[in-house]
Amino acid sequence: MNQKHAVVIGSGFAGLSAATHLASNNYSVTLLEKNESPGGRARKFSSHGFTFDMGPSWYWMPDVFEDYFSHFGKKPSDYYDLVRLDPSYAVIYGQDDILDIPANLDEFKAKLEEIEPGSANQLDEFLAQAKYKYQVGIHDLVKKPSRSLLEFTSLSLLKDIMRMDVFQSMAAHVRKFFKSDKIIRLMEFPVLFLGETAENIPALYSLMNYADIALGTWYPKKGMHEIIAGMVSLAEEKGVEIRYDAEVEEIEITDGLAKDVRLKSGEKISADVVIAGADYHHVDKHLINPKYSNYSEEYWDKRVMAPSSLLFYLGVDKKLENLRHHNLFFDEPLGPHADAIYTKPRWPEAPLFYACLPSVTDETVAPEGMENLFLLIPLAPDLEDSEQTREKYYDIIMDRLEKISGQEIRSHVIFKRSYAHSDFKADYHAYKGNAYGLANTLKQTAILKPSLKNKKVNNLFYTGQLTVPGPGVPPSLISGYVVAKEVIRENL
Ligand SMILES: Cc1cc2nc3c(=O)[nH]c(=O)nc-3n(C[C@H](O)[C@H](O)[C@H](O)COP(=O)(O)OP(=O)(O)OC[C@H]3O[C@@H](n4cnc5c(N)ncnc54)[C@H](O)[C@@H]3O)c2cc1C
Repeated sequence: MNQKHAVVIGSGFAGLSAATHLASNNYSVTLLEKNESPGGRARKFSSHGFTFDMGPSWYWMPDVFEDYFSHFGKKPSDYYDLVRLDPSYAVIYGQDDILDIPANLDEFKAKLEEIEPGSANQLDEFLAQAKYKYQVGIHDLVKKPSRSLLEFTSLSLLKDIMRMDVFQSMAAHVRKFFKSDKIIRLMEFPVLFLGETAENIPALYSLMNYADIALGTWYPKKGMHEIIAGMVSLAEEKGVEIRYDAEVEEIEITDGLAKDVRLKSGEKISADVVIAGADYHHVDKHLINPKYSNYSEEYWDKRVMAPSSLLFYLGVDKKLENLRHHNLFFDEPLGPHADAIYTKPRWPEAPLFYACLPSVTDETVAPEGMENLFLLIPLAPDLEDSEQTREKYYDIIMDRLEKISGQEIRSHVIFKRSYAHSDFKADYHAYKGNAYGLANTLKQTAILKPSLKNKKVNNLFYTGQLTVPGPGVPPSLISGYVVAKEVIRENL
């Protein structure tokens, strides 16, 4: 039997995952990446002796990575060394008001108890429910292609879904257990990864608290990009041909089938099946003839996109004090910042931000005696991001970072690069300059997400953070697996 040829577009987590699953199921696979290096939003770059992860920095849900590599008889440790962070992270509520989150559950409970008596017991029940959601959610629901409601109609699954708080908000759920504002903010923080506020995220996602508190925060030595390096090496081991600087300009559709993929260079590559791991909107609106688009511009415009961000990659010529590997600055109220992201999109007046210092854990990402500092402000998508505005926000957060950590930092910055909306658009064709794809609101969950298959072109599929199951590294890995399974099931 002739080997089928799959063309995969994009070398992010989803594209690499789809390509490797197909290659290990006897497809010949060509993976086309527009940039000169792999990883998409999880690329890295080096300068002045510093190595920066460009996107993800939180390694959560280690079992999902184990699951991924185990499909191919491998383990994460075959490719990278993981360490569990302790403290997992620090939450900065204000000057001299910093909460380290211990990795050990009993120590964590003791800290909660100090803030709100009785909350340790409440946490037990909260986590028991979250664990159940995690087990059903991550090991079953997210692996469904979500192409039809019928996938969800088995009696046991329906019972499971009823127990999973799909119709209650995360905000209401957390408040049933805890009263202290500090604990509420802490418990609501993980869903910010899902691209909406806790009011608009189903309580199903308290599964993220289980991931955070019980499963822990991990770090691959040498940086998050080591995961990508491992995935690339595995993909190549399975025979995937990866081509960089290979931007796709058109998926040519003939007689209702995607037959050829045309590169910017003019070269054409024929395909039996095409899996697009590039941003869904870009593929649907710019790479195919509009008559085959799954969705209209109006549809896309009405989607709730997860935020974009303003990022700073900084090389600092001294070691910094009073900061951990992960630092969440909650020293301003969340409400007005959330309003500036989700309700009336604008640059926020007093932004919350996140500071990551991987060099606290890893001496390889900065020269000796120096610090690798990554700053992130979540922002509404589609904002104008001039150099002047970036600088204004650099000063705003640097003022607070210096004051709260009690040291001068700006004058020690020997390397600085900023990154925001226009970069996301230029580098990844990101719709509205989004960073994290599509938000996981109730109306954008499972079958209500953009479909992983084109409805008019039988051999064209989509994968990645804008389709099922959603944004984040673990879901993107799973997305590649789910789409490959569909291709194989349909024998395309
Ligand atoms: C700043 C930031 C921080 C984050 N932090 C975390 C975190 O801590 N933990 C976590 O789990 N998740 C995090 N995320 C989210 C996570 O990184 C993403 O959900 C995930 O990487 C998305 O993978 P993907 O494969 O769907 O898309 P992408 O990584 O965007 O991959 C798509 C690929 O397609 C390529 N492409 C686009 N157009 C074309 C074309 N025409 N031809 C060829 N190739 C094309 C792009 O260059 C890109 O390589 C973060 C994201 C960002 C941006």
